[in-house]
Amino acid sequence: MIQTQATVVDIEYSPNKEVAFIYFKPEQSFSFQEGQFIFLERIWFAYPDGKAMKNAYSIGTTNKLLQEKWIIGTIVKKSTEWGMSEYLTKKIAIGDTINMTGPLGHFIDNKISHNYVFMSIGSGITPVFALYNKLLEEKKFDHIVNVFGERYKENLLSSVVDAYNNNSETIQQFLYLSQEKDLPDWRESWYIQQALDIIFDIFAKEKFQVFLCGKPVMVDDVVAILTDRWVEKDYIHFEKY
Ligand SMILES: Cc1cc2nc3c(=O)[nH]c(=O)nc-3n(C[C@H](O)[C@H](O)[C@H](O)COP(=O)(O)OP(=O)(O)OC[C@H]3O[C@@H](n4cnc5c(N)ncnc54)[C@H](O)[C@@H]3O)c2cc1C
Repeated sequence: MIQTQATVVDIEYSPNKEVAFIYFKPEQSFSFQEGQFIFLERIWFAYPDGKAMKNAYSIGTTNKLLQEKWIIGTIVKKSTEWGMSEYLTKKIAIGDTINMTGPLGHFIDNKISHNYVFMSIGSGITPVFALYNKLLEEKKFDHIVNVFGERYKENLLSSVVDAYNNNSETIQQFLYLSQEKDLPDWRESWYIQQALDIIFDIFAKEKFQVFLCGKPVMVDDVVAILTDRWVEKDYIHFEKY
């Protein structure tokens, strides 16, 4: 694990600026496994009780990008006022520096199967986006089913929409916008759990690994459904936040 300062080199915003894909150049390079997270800490800031503004953020880019271009990124969704997520989506700017510690976490691909199911909602997309892009980089998969849910189209990053627009025989995308209507490529539905029946049909009795990330209630619900059917615990990976 390393501790370094990192400078913001680029930021992509969703149309409503509630979601930001922030790219950093760390002073010290390191290696990580897609799915891991880092701690980000605002420099020169302390809450009145002296605590640092510091939170965990998953890495949304691949290790290849860090090794080849020295760039690492995370996708942050604003979830409170005055907190770290507000700082990262509303205040931080290109050229600013931040403390970065990591990598940490075990939400990683153990390659137990080459069939992959990704299910994420909101900011839960971040580690899934890295895992998904790593598979596309290496082309070492048999089948990917990717299920992603957001509330509004205004929350969507163009880079995510572009990356999740490649349906084929081996990659299937199920994209849900819970609060929108009339979007031809996106289904309107609140629960991404609705994709589970389709997933079980796609894989029949074949084994698949599942990566789940998002709100605890969604993760718990999906884990219960998967284990009730025939998915073994070793094949289910999750991160809740
Ligand atoms: C492993 C992991 C990975 C994650 N990855 C991501 C990710 O990729 N993207 C993402 O968007 N989120 C991610 N999260 C969630 C993230 O860590 C934050 O919980 C989220 O961004 C909300 O942070 P916040 O600063 O807005 O709120 P909090 O830090 O929870 O603060 C809540 C409120 O309390 C105030 N506050 C906090 N501490 C103090 C204090 N000491 N004194 C006074 N006021 C205080 C803040 O100002 C704020 O208003 C991840 C979480 C985990 C555990």
